[in-house]
Amino acid sequence: MSLSLTVLGSSGMFGTLERACAGYLLESDGDRILIDCGAGTWRNLLEHIDYRSLAGVILSHRHPDHVSDLFQLFHARRYGQKESLPEIPLWAPAETLDRLCGFAKELDQAFVMRSVSPGDSIQQAGARFSFYSMAHPPDTVGVRIERDGVVVAYSSDTGPSGDLEALAADADVFVCEATLQDSDDEWEGHMTASQAGAAAAHAGAKRLVLTHLPPGRDPGLSLTQAHKTSGDSEVQLAVDGLRLEVGS
Ligand SMILES: [Zn+2]
Ligand SMILES: [Zn+2]
Repeated sequence: MSLSLTVLGSSGMFGTLERACAGYLLESDGDRILIDCGAGTWRNLLEHIDYRSLAGVILSHRHPDHVSDLFQLFHARRYGQKESLPEIPLWAPAETLDRLCGFAKELDQAFVMRSVSPGDSIQQAGARFSFYSMAHPPDTVGVRIERDGVVVAYSSDTGPSGDLEALAADADVFVCEATLQDSDDEWEGHMTASQAGAAAAHAGAKRLVLTHLPPGRDPGLSLTQAHKTSGDSEVQLAVDGLRLEVGS
């Protein structure tokens, strides 16, 4: 049994020609869940799968760099074929669902809205998805996915006081935001690469994948800074198209 996570977008704040905003495709023995759907991820999604095969969508919070391409998926499922496709679940904090429906109230014609809070967990696609509280100004959840002892964790956006140790405890893969570098001013709700490295080490994560680096940063420097604090955790950079396979 295995999990795989494909990076659809690894940029923070806004995308570039090379990198879309936040988005990940989780596959659990053939079932597919989209986690976050920022600008540019829709086109990248189409490179990997037929959108009609998605079993559900999880959005971590309402910021545009994590949700804006949801409207493309909505239009495709609603209007992309003669008959609208059946609704699929859309899990997100209640605040996120409210904002999205404020923009397009007919979203419920393509999605079944399911609000999630820290402490909730759902069983889907043969895996357990558990939600943790992250330290980011809007209501934000981190997502931990477990299947047959295999664990993938995703921090979304968070400061270092998010519930990262529980989120990523003994994770095989921990995809963690690293918006900042050591010389940057502190920015509430985000972390440096060094802090991401320390969080991975504390949690006992086997592999740390740094993501949400804003355009213009030197990714090599982020990698170096994370290495200094990551202890036994291996560290690598997220890039669009990277596929992380976990389990047998
Ligand atoms: Zn973000
Ligand atoms: Zn955010």
